[in-house]
Amino acid sequence: MKKPFKNVAVIGTGILGTQIAMLAANVGYKVKVYDTREGAFDIAFKNRKAELKAKKITPFIPWDKWEKIRKGVIQVTDLGEAAKDADLIIEAVPENIELKNKMFKELGRLAPPKAIIATNSSSIPVSRMQNSSGRPERCLNIHFYFPLQGTNMVDIMGGTKTLPEVMRKGREWIISIGCIPLTVNKEILGFCFNRVWRAIKREVLYMWGNGFVDFRDSDRGWMVFTKMKEGPFGLMDKVGLDVVYDIEMVYYNDSKDPKDKPPDKLLQMVKRGELGVKTGKGFYTYPNPEFLQRDFLKPQK
Ligand code: NAD
Repeated sequence: MKKPFKNVAVIGTGILGTQIAMLAANVGYKVKVYDTREGAFDIAFKNRKAELKAKKITPFIPWDKWEKIRKGVIQVTDLGEAAKDADLIIEAVPENIELKNKMFKELGRLAPPKAIIATNSSSIPVSRMQNSSGRPERCLNIHFYFPLQGTNMVDIMGGTKTLPEVMRKGREWIISIGCIPLTVNKEILGFCFNRVWRAIKREVLYMWGNGFVDFRDSDRGWMVFTKMKEGPFGLMDKVGLDVVYDIEMVYYNDSKDPKDKPPDKLLQMVKRGELGVKTGKGFYTYPNPEFLQRDFLKPQK
């Protein structure tokens, strides 16, 4: 597959940034990563490996390539060093509009003029950051799911000023790393598939938050129906409940519809530090959550 770029930089290597960096390095892009937390890439790499092994998932990138990829990714401790020769920069820092705008501003200053700046944000349209970069015509939403476990589809959406050429190159890049671009032609909050996932999330959170249904039963129903290894609450634990809460608040702040407000019970969990897989406790307890146990989907009293 034709490669539209040579150098890729990923900023913020937590759950998602690390997977994006690995996917790009896997097909030969020169990848630099930057995170404010020392060793973040290695930690997330180790966690993903442990998670996929625990769930017996065959990863999108074969196991025998993982270590070579880890060694090939260049971890830098300075944002300017990461950005200076990049053709494409993807930021995957936490879902906070002020932080993202700050990042777009710094990247706009530090990256070469030709560089495309993209956000992996789960909910914020890039038009809300594009002006901070000083190059709104070269900004994109490139939104990943969990590529290492084979969810290799990627939402791509331009802002209000993105050039068609930039969209084209973004699509080519997504295809070159082995993913399926889900192209959004006109800006909309939530992109393409993420809106579908969000509708499910909102409903199950509403039912749990208002005491209608035990969250395990929502997950059981989903797992039996879709044959997936986890249900919406298991998935939210994986995403991180702080991230989920922030995303739901983006929708709520946009619509001001009380039905869009995430339940207070979710905020309380976040405040208690029950963030899901990354803290060992969310809806379930990790590393051996109830939904992976043999009798979870068995008829029981
Ligand atoms: P995360 O908390 O796992 O990782 C964020 C990383 O950013 C951390 O390693 C943190 O140290 C780093 N960081 C914070 N401030 C920084 C800064 N100023 N400069 C550089 N690095 C900084 O979060 P995540 O789940 O990977 O989410 C990151 C982004 O990806 C969010 O916008 C989120 O909406 C989006 N996203 C998340 C998921 C998911 O399932 N978790 C899926 C798709 C998209």
